[in-house]
Amino acid sequence: MAQVQTVRGTVASNSLGYTLTHEHLALDFTHFHTEPPQPLASIFQAPRITLENVGFVRQYPYSSSYNLSFNDEDSRLAVEKDIEAFKRFGGGTIVENTSHGLNRNLGLMHDISVATNHTGSIEMTNNWE
Ligand SMILES: [Zn+2]
Repeated sequence: MAQVQTVRGTVASNSLGYTLTHEHLALDFTHFHTEPPQPLASIFQAPRITLENVGFVRQYPYSSSYNLSFNDEDSRLAVEKDIEAFKRFGGGTIVENTSHGLNRNLGLMHDISVATNHTGSIEMTNNWE
């Protein structure tokens, strides 16, 4: 049986189950940052997305630093909830495709895999290895 390398070791390919083949659990787009139009600059100084600025962030998504980085605690908690839902509906494996240039975080992938293991055997792999 063919083996698949995951962040928690190798597994048999026939144990993967339903597989999402192209996901990004955490990444960093900050090098795509662009300045907002000058009259809106102060709106984008807010450290987070709020009801007051969400419309502007939707209009200028690459001008919000918070909107470009998915490596913080908020992102990790959101990803864990998404993975738990994926598993609840029969999901088995996620192929994480974040490349080095997008700040791939193998430690985070491992930690999320461990943290969400309570309902099954989700594993994450990365086809860039
Ligand atoms: Zn992608």
